[in-house]
Amino acid sequence: MTDTKIKILPCPRCRKETVWEGNPFRPFCSARCKTTDLAAWADEDYRIAGDEAPAADESSTNE
Ligand SMILES: [Zn+2]
Repeated sequence: MTDTKIKILPCPRCRKETVWEGNPFRPFCSARCKTTDLAAWADEDYRIAGDEAPAADESSTNE
């Protein structure tokens, strides 16, 4: 049988098959996917952190 030492895993971002060994961007396939993923997390964090609504001039409207 084949004796392959190379581990290939799909990139969690784009599902592209990626060689694990010697890959500085693992588990991603490239710097782009890594950055995109981190940015997505950062963006989510930012949204949660800044979830508080700004002081809106929203006094109860009674008509
Ligand atoms: Zn990718």
